[in-house]
Amino acid sequence: MCQFAGCSRFLWNKALALQKERLEDKQSCLSYNKLANMLPAWKKEYPFLAEAPSQTLQQTLKALDRAIKEAFDKTNPKKFPVFKKKYKSKDSFKYPQGFEISNSRVFLPKIGWVGFRRSQYIKGKPKNITVSREIDHWYISIQTEQRVSEAVHPSKKATGIDLGINKMVALSDGTYILPINAYMQEQHKLAKLQRRLAKKIKFSSNWYKLVKKVQRLHWHIANMRADYLHKASCALSKNHAIVCMENLQVKNMSKSAKGTVEQPGRNVRAKSGLNQAIVDQGWGELTRQLSYKQYWRGGTLVLVPPQFTSQKCSACGYVHADNRPSQAVFHCQACGHTENADNNAAKNILGEGLSLLACPEKGAALIGHREPVQSDRSLKQEIRSRLVA
Ligand SMILES: [Zn+2]
Repeated sequence: MCQFAGCSRFLWNKALALQKERLEDKQSCLSYNKLANMLPAWKKEYPFLAEAPSQTLQQTLKALDRAIKEAFDKTNPKKFPVFKKKYKSKDSFKYPQGFEISNSRVFLPKIGWVGFRRSQYIKGKPKNITVSREIDHWYISIQTEQRVSEAVHPSKKATGIDLGINKMVALSDGTYILPINAYMQEQHKLAKLQRRLAKKIKFSSNWYKLVKKVQRLHWHIANMRADYLHKASCALSKNHAIVCMENLQVKNMSKSAKGTVEQPGRNVRAKSGLNQAIVDQGWGELTRQLSYKQYWRGGTLVLVPPQFTSQKCSACGYVHADNRPSQAVFHCQACGHTENADNNAAKNILGEGLSLLACPEKGAALIGHREPVQSDRSLKQEIRSRLVA
């Protein structure tokens, strides 16, 4: 598995280098088919590549092709793909076919039968399998597809949510979910390890040991964050058929604080703290989880434009900057309504979301909102389990 994952990583880097060279020469990127046609020559040049299953190598090239296309997608550009480092990247390879799944074992081409701890029943048709390594453990992710009947959301409630730093999620009913800030909790430990790592001789055996430790801590932080976010999004989605939230461009907000056009380099320290908190709390990930969980349950996520939601009075609608005497308190200058500022904003978001739902031509981004005629739909799911020797 190490070897196959290494081949995938090597091929990714090789093909990415080629694409980057072409871009620098002002040429267009090679298509997937052209890259795949180069595989036989590369296998001759690097004989170890021939030992990996051809399908997994093709899948690597497909993944790179998709990543580059997504980076050039004008409506929602993603980060340009980067080279994979041996000791930093997650190692993985993917089988599009040729695998078999039994109760507790899985057959992987060119590897054989491997046992796994099944994390849940596998419903639907398995479409592909990804084998990946996290620190010392290997996992399989089985992607399945199944036809399901139209889901009817169990709840009739709607809520607006306001994302914040002190309260991760403030709901329009006055409740809130506090953040976990996994990275901040562990950052001193991490800094200490990294200082020790800097003193070691690179690629020495003690260096490797420390690299492992750093990786394990990062893994732990990521797991804490993911677990917490899943619990939060699950509770929100279970209890509300309609969730309204601001359409925040988290990617722009968490960009470097040093140079934005509007405010070049002001409050750099405060802002980089804010950015870190946004990244740490995983606002983007929370939005992603809410959108697919609402889709599963037959609910709706409404993304509303983030304008004046914090300055508007949720009781009378008066908008003024003076309505916010402090970060935490909202006090309306017109009607005297006083409330926690985050919950006031959440109420505005709910109001805005519901009005957008009533007339979608106003341009709300609705996620999970489907045509009512659709009687069944396909549901894609990824089931992840740990492999055992
Ligand atoms: Zn008011």
